[in-house]
Amino acid sequence: MSANTTPVAPDLDAIHARYLQERDKRIRPDGNEQYIEPTGKYAHFLDDPHTERVEREPLFDEVTVAFIGGGFAGLLTGAKLRQAEIDDVRIIEKGGDFGGTWYWNRYPGAQCDTAAFIYLPLLEETGHMPTEKYTHAPEILQHCRNIGAQFDLYDHALFSTEVTGLEWDDAAKRWIIRTDRGDKMRAKYIAMGTGPLHRPKLPGIDGINDFDGHAFHTSRWDYEYTGGDPGGARMENLADKRVGIIGTGATAVQCVPHLAQACGELFVFQRTPSSIDIRNNKPTDPEWFQTLEPGWQKKWLENFTTLQTGGFTDEDLVMDGWTDISQRIRDKLLSSPEPDLSPAGMLQAYHDSDDEKMVEVRARVNQVVEDEITAEKLKPWYRQLCKRPCFHDQYLQAFNEPGTHLIDTDGKGVERIDATGVWVNGEHYELDCLIFASGFEVGTSFERRSGFETTGRDGLTLSQYWEDGMRTLHGMNVHGFPNAFVVGPTQAANLISNIPHNLVEAGETIATIVAHAESIEAAEVEVTREAEDAWVALLEAGGRTFGGDPTCTPGYYNNEGREISPSQLRNTLGYPAGPVAYFEYIEKWRTTGDFEGLTFS
Ligand code: NDP
Repeated sequence: MSANTTPVAPDLDAIHARYLQERDKRIRPDGNEQYIEPTGKYAHFLDDPHTERVEREPLFDEVTVAFIGGGFAGLLTGAKLRQAEIDDVRIIEKGGDFGGTWYWNRYPGAQCDTAAFIYLPLLEETGHMPTEKYTHAPEILQHCRNIGAQFDLYDHALFSTEVTGLEWDDAAKRWIIRTDRGDKMRAKYIAMGTGPLHRPKLPGIDGINDFDGHAFHTSRWDYEYTGGDPGGARMENLADKRVGIIGTGATAVQCVPHLAQACGELFVFQRTPSSIDIRNNKPTDPEWFQTLEPGWQKKWLENFTTLQTGGFTDEDLVMDGWTDISQRIRDKLLSSPEPDLSPAGMLQAYHDSDDEKMVEVRARVNQVVEDEITAEKLKPWYRQLCKRPCFHDQYLQAFNEPGTHLIDTDGKGVERIDATGVWVNGEHYELDCLIFASGFEVGTSFERRSGFETTGRDGLTLSQYWEDGMRTLHGMNVHGFPNAFVVGPTQAANLISNIPHNLVEAGETIATIVAHAESIEAAEVEVTREAEDAWVALLEAGGRTFGGDPTCTPGYYNNEGREISPSQLRNTLGYPAGPVAYFEYIEKWRTTGDFEGLTFS
């Protein structure tokens, strides 16, 4: 810029028009149906590459609590139940160890996207100091194992075991748990923390089954083929390989820099660019960590959630990309002499601050990426929260590597796959290896995602009961399904920026309910239909949902840009007054000891 040139204000009308144009290019009539399940030659994408399956005798025993899923939800609930002196908690997990998403996702560069001090649960209880602000996957997996060991959760755990069905035996007042190992176990209580992001999905591209080269999904990284390891060691075997990766979401953003260093040639097939803001990762200073006072993690969690959801605090303890988004919105609001704190005023403040942020995000692409044409194609034309916002300091830089090629499809996606490679815009890219960074099943039915059916009282299944959408009290208790708990953010706090915070509270709540039921020797605990109806009505009236903005570019945040039916809407509802209010509410609910809405018999 010459000395007397004044900066040109961005033409916001043109920018907003471009957002709509880019969205329209990507809307597809098949929505979620564009994705397929890994079957046939790709069926092994669902297998466990990390642990060998060892045959064992089936089990027919009984425990007090069985938890389906060994990720953060199971570990946290298990730990809280153990603290409440429930000794026989059995976590059943299809993977070979604890960790959930961190067990499966071992791709190079995997790390948490929310600061480890609030993302990693039970830091004070375990004494673990995250080594970096955004910890890498091997450390997170080890933390999961440490929680399992510290709370004796390994004692009763069943790994490499997939639940095939849960059924309530009303006469015995017990749940019967069937698995792919021939088990037929019983439990007084069951809980399910199966997560929305664990079943890999594939793009339904023409010819996908014809590829004869090597192929894998990012959640089952094949280090035997690539060399290297989850710690980020160089993938030596790729040095002479032509590798393609389909997808440029949060996963690809983390693994592409490692591929760019290792591959002979890397082709990144892009349909929609991610927005990439600054990461600013740094090692933790142990001396500073020592200064944190008891109770610090709860304080940090509350501080983050307050700031991230539009509240005010004296200081920003976490200071990351998420709290930055909120800070900007607050600054916008407060810069006005008469701040408009109505929902419309808040939305306007979000739009204004987002306009500024996205201009910066796009300018950063030009600052980092040397080739102008590539830089143009890497620019995101949508609001930052339309898709999972990404933060990285090596992703854009990877496109400066001479062997890394961005193959942009201008919103259309890969055209075709054949035996030797991938077609885009009529051009063929010959490949030795094709990596699918195509994400996970999110929008499908609970049964399809969890992989099993839950049958409650009178033979009614959860899929039948939820045919018109989820119905719960607190996202957790379901009428007709006594002694059962569902664990997840939906119909509760719905805090998406830090999922573990939802799970900490859920674990605490379940442990309190179970401990109470045991102390009064209740055979059953169940939510009344009235309490469930009232909760769903409260949430529907509030209309606080996750995602669903139809002006956004399509993705799993907004049902691939398709209209959201009332039943789908129910599956995304959160507490109307927001996560902070929900956490306060649920703490009060469980500590008063009234357990309003539940019956113990
Ligand atoms: P996503 O579902 O976010 O991304 C799938 C990618 O595949 C998109 O870029 C999509 O393009 C692309 N794609 C689909 N079909 C085609 C096609 N036919 N041709 C070309 N490209 C195609 O999956 P991810 O695994 O990246 O992330 C899933 C979620 O996992 C994240 O949103 C996040 O919640 C979580 N995650 C969290 C991390 C963390 O916390 N550290 C790290 C990684 C993931 P398009 O955008 O156009 O649909």
